[in-house]
Amino acid sequence: MVATRSQTRGRKSHYYVVAANLEAIEILEEGEFDMNNREVLGEISDAAYERLGVKKDGRLKFDTNKHIVCLDCQAHYKEKEGCKLHPIYWVENSFASQGGRRLPYAERTIPPEYFYLSEDTIAGQGIKAARKIPVGLVFGPYKGIKTPTEECRNPGYSWHVTIKGKLFTVDAFDKTKGNWLRYVNSPNEETGGNMIPFQYQEKIYYKTIKVIQKDEEVLVWYGEQYGKELRNLRASRQ
Ligand SMILES: [Zn+2]
Repeated sequence: MVATRSQTRGRKSHYYVVAANLEAIEILEEGEFDMNNREVLGEISDAAYERLGVKKDGRLKFDTNKHIVCLDCQAHYKEKEGCKLHPIYWVENSFASQGGRRLPYAERTIPPEYFYLSEDTIAGQGIKAARKIPVGLVFGPYKGIKTPTEECRNPGYSWHVTIKGKLFTVDAFDKTKGNWLRYVNSPNEETGGNMIPFQYQEKIYYKTIKVIQKDEEVLVWYGEQYGKELRNLRASRQ
């Protein structure tokens, strides 16, 4: 059904807005909030608004490339907009082409409004928050060299990605090919992460699952295997 001009004009816009407590994202209608006092992340199109909260067909198997999980609701959603009660906001990858030609590509992709590179982390270089970051922001995709898993040379900088049922790895060890997500360290324990990785449409993204305070390190759990290796490595250094 196509809306008439007058119907379209009468419709109010919706926006992704950082909640008043700065800890989550809300979707609010124009006029429901004071735009001058609240941080607006972006407008949500009418079409995308309609897709919010539409669950995947229960008869279909969950497909990591097509569906979005809401961990709070334990539900699978059909479209990338995901859950209506716990909205996610996809932050576009940025690239600072000016002001840092001497820096490697990976460093120039750090979105400065959110993050900065730090040497003072749990494991060498890492990423810290430049501001308080609410739950539900999605960053990425993770960029790197895609190879068949058996040929992956840098497992510490790689994620598995399933493409047409086959397992590949995206290796971001090379700073001229990988983007800033390569700098994010893993916590010692699974519960120590404030972001989680997930696959969507054959790419890996990171999503905030805990509020990240300004100057706090961003941490993504790399999985049990990697966690163990990291623990052993650290124990051997002490
Ligand atoms: Zn939810």
